[in-house]
Amino acid sequence: MPVWRNISLWMDQLDEPLAPRTSLEHDLDVDVAIIGAGYTGLWTAYYLKRQAPQLKVVVLEAQTAGFGASGRNGGWLMGNLLGEDRLLAGLSPQQRRASFELLHGIPDEVKEVIDREAIDCDFRKGGVLYCAARYPEQEHSLRGYLAGLHRQGLEEADYCWLGPQELTRQLRVTRPYGAIFSPHMATIQPAKLARGLAQAVERLGVPIYENSPVIDWRHGGLRTHQAQIRSHWVVPAVEGYSVSLPPLGRYQLPVQSLLVATEPLSAATWEEIGLDRGQAFSEGSRQVTYGQRSADNRLVFGARGGYRFAGRLRHDFNLTESEIELRRYLFGELFPQLKKVRITHSWGGNLGMSRRFRPHMLCDRANGLALAGGYGGEGVGASHLGGRTLADLILQQDTPRVRQPWVIQAGGLSALKAWEPEPCRWLGYNAIVRSFVHEDQVLANPNAAPWRRKLASSLAGFMEGFMK
Ligand SMILES: Cc1cc2nc3c(=O)[nH]c(=O)nc-3n(C[C@H](O)[C@H](O)[C@H](O)COP(=O)(O)OP(=O)(O)OC[C@H]3O[C@@H](n4cnc5c(N)ncnc54)[C@H](O)[C@@H]3O)c2cc1C
Repeated sequence: MPVWRNISLWMDQLDEPLAPRTSLEHDLDVDVAIIGAGYTGLWTAYYLKRQAPQLKVVVLEAQTAGFGASGRNGGWLMGNLLGEDRLLAGLSPQQRRASFELLHGIPDEVKEVIDREAIDCDFRKGGVLYCAARYPEQEHSLRGYLAGLHRQGLEEADYCWLGPQELTRQLRVTRPYGAIFSPHMATIQPAKLARGLAQAVERLGVPIYENSPVIDWRHGGLRTHQAQIRSHWVVPAVEGYSVSLPPLGRYQLPVQSLLVATEPLSAATWEEIGLDRGQAFSEGSRQVTYGQRSADNRLVFGARGGYRFAGRLRHDFNLTESEIELRRYLFGELFPQLKKVRITHSWGGNLGMSRRFRPHMLCDRANGLALAGGYGGEGVGASHLGGRTLADLILQQDTPRVRQPWVIQAGGLSALKAWEPEPCRWLGYNAIVRSFVHEDQVLANPNAAPWRRKLASSLAGFMEGFMK
């Protein structure tokens, strides 16, 4: 299927022929029907079957395993959860520490599974560098962020400040103001993880039906074009595609993020840049940038994309020249030697943003509904926690995972905060993003007057506050 190969650099790199699995053509009675063969759906299936092999579990996928964000992301496997600081704020220091440890353990838990299942997905746990590398205000805001993390009980061993020289030992950028370093992060080849996990799930006896979009779902079952499934549990695991399964689109805004990959770079170029042990990196602007050095020595670099009116999904990820050039500009500011490098791949995908940036893992036992999402661009690791937590919840296992503030066990979907109706969402989202772009343009201009810099940052900070 060449069209699936074009989804991303990662899908293009797969050795397998990407032959479609069979689609569902007959009715079924199962215990758990999972919609979506991305990480959330696959991890849920994996942990359900590992713990309860007798369960009848099935996965329905509209396209192919890894078609969604799971086969397209930046490969940051993070040991955290978006907005964890706010989610954990009400806990005692001991509880908070235990929750942080649960989150920090995610990359190692994934590593355990990929070793057990022989999934080669270029896993390297080199940590992450959140760099102040373009303008001095980045140092101020990152230091403030770090102080907040330490106030929450995180320690130097979890997040520490690297001065210019220490940063330069790991990553050489033009203007090294400093960086936050955290060891709780690995980089991976995302599609290899998704595809390998799909095979592991099949080995456990879970059929995955591809080219089988679910067109209707309710408590107790779902329907595709050709078949019906009766199921005790339904697990919609469609994060950025929630609009395709009403009413879930009310709770997760589909936002796009866009990436580029360079051609493989020479050893000499990497000697100049660094990143010699799989570290992930970003630069501290509100453009939400993320990068890694791939196992085959490319620079893979992404930044925030957009939101379309009424949550319309973006299907065409042939990036425009200006979308590619923005990303080239951003990494070229860090690494001028790459300003003219050849970009071989560009792509993007839809991810799910929950209101107030609060990821959720929800179980509605009365109606047989379990779902996790709203990871907001930080879902590679979070979806592992999500899938594992949903399995615990469905199997009624009392683990530390089910006792976290992001777990919802009462109230069903109505316990989630819905996004505002249109046109408020579109106007709000775009106004906020514009304020971020404006801030970045002003701060990146060394001649901008101090009052302009301050005003641009205050405005962007004020606008960001609306999303939380
Ligand atoms: C470009 C990009 C970069 C990112 N980078 C990072 C990163 O570096 N680190 C990080 O932590 N997070 C990142 N994320 C977020 C992360 O990739 C996602 O949060 C995570 O992969 C979500 O997994 P999922 O299984 O919940 O959803 P998905 O992987 O999107 O899977 C959903 C699946 O459901 C299927 N589907 C949709 N509708 C239906 C239907 N009606 N019937 C049947 N199947 C359906 C889709 O085809 C898809 O395969 C990124 C996201 C994007 C888009």
